[in-house]
Amino acid sequence: MYQQILFAADFSEEALRVGERAREIARKCGAQLSLIHVVEDVTISLGGGYELLPVLPDLPDEALLQEARNTLGELARRLDVADASLWVVNAISTKEGILGAAKDHHIDLIVVGSHGRHGLALLLGSTANAVLHSAPCDVLAVRL
Ligand code: AMP
Repeated sequence: MYQQILFAADFSEEALRVGERAREIARKCGAQLSLIHVVEDVTISLGGGYELLPVLPDLPDEALLQEARNTLGELARRLDVADASLWVVNAISTKEGILGAAKDHHIDLIVVGSHGRHGLALLLGSTANAVLHSAPCDVLAVRL
C-alpha cells in the first residue's frame, strides 16, 4: 500500500476534485498526504495579463510564492486535510518541481489531473504526460 502520496495542485477549478481523490486514497492507505504547487521561474504573468517578466532562478518572486502558499493552504483547508504537508516550490518547470520533490521525499504515488490549464487537446495534459514518463513511482491521472 502507498505510504507517501503527493497531490500536484494547479489551483484550477478541478484541483479540488483531484485533491479529493488523493485524500481518499491516502485515508484508505493510512498514507501521509503532501500537496505541492510549483511556481515556474521562467516567466511570470503580471496583473494586466499581458506583461511577461523573466524571473531569475536565484531571485524567486517572494510575493508570488507567498500568494501560492496562501492559496495552497486554502485548498488544504477546503479538502479538510489539516495534517498534510504543504510545499510551494520554485522550479524551472512544473515537471521538475514535482519529480524533484517526489524523489527527495520518497513519494510512492503522485496524483495529478489528466488536464489543467493547458486544455483538452491531448489525451493527457502536458504535465500529466511529462510526470508519467519520468516518475520514479506510480502516477494516478485523475480524469477531468
Ligand atoms: P496541465 O499540464 O496544465 O494540463 O495540468 C495537468 C495537471 O498537472 C493538473 O491537474 C495538476 O495536477 C498538475 N499541475 C499543473 N500545473 C501545476 C503546478 N503549477 N503545480 C502543481 N501541479 C500542477
